[in-house]
Amino acid sequence: MGGGNSNFDKNAHEGKLMRETIKKQGNKIRNQDFETLCVIDRYGDIVGEVDGSGHSVRSDELDELARGNIEMHNHPNEGTFSPSDVLKHIENGSLETHVVSRSWNYLIRPKGGRHPEYGLRFYQAYREADDRLHKKAEMDFIMQAKDNPEMWSQYDKWVLKRWDDYCHEWLQNNASKYGYEYRRTSVKGRKK
Ligand SMILES: [Zn+2]
Repeated sequence: MGGGNSNFDKNAHEGKLMRETIKKQGNKIRNQDFETLCVIDRYGDIVGEVDGSGHSVRSDELDELARGNIEMHNHPNEGTFSPSDVLKHIENGSLETHVVSRSWNYLIRPKGGRHPEYGLRFYQAYREADDRLHKKAEMDFIMQAKDNPEMWSQYDKWVLKRWDDYCHEWLQNNASKYGYEYRRTSVKGRKK
């Protein structure tokens, strides 16, 4: 015991407050039908918050604040990070970026807490994959709908879901190659 431990205790306490705020704020915004972006600092305080539309949120005002802090926004229509979400995270230099939806919690952060110098390559590779995987999802649909024409009424929903599954899989398999950690966890006790 002694003075040497007090910093450690303080950091552990701050980390706990930060996790509590992330959880609380995530649950507050995950069921909204519009996007909200917020920045949480390492002491667990919400230092910025802005509401957007159903599909996007302008984050210019929060970009400065995000550096070294935690960013979080919700996806009202489900789905993992978009390529532009990943780009923001890298450009802002945020410690972590979170997306919450009705069913899932998503997280991206640089391994070891520092963005790699070549971080932008992660975005570039994901953006290319995203385009390719969208086309792949459309092809999957066409192949399956050939024998099931009634599927056409579900086109948008079906393709979006398949596209998102592919993007999630890509991030799972590739984020660490570029120095990032990607994680998706289900929201307990909730069903789709
Ligand atoms: Zn997003």
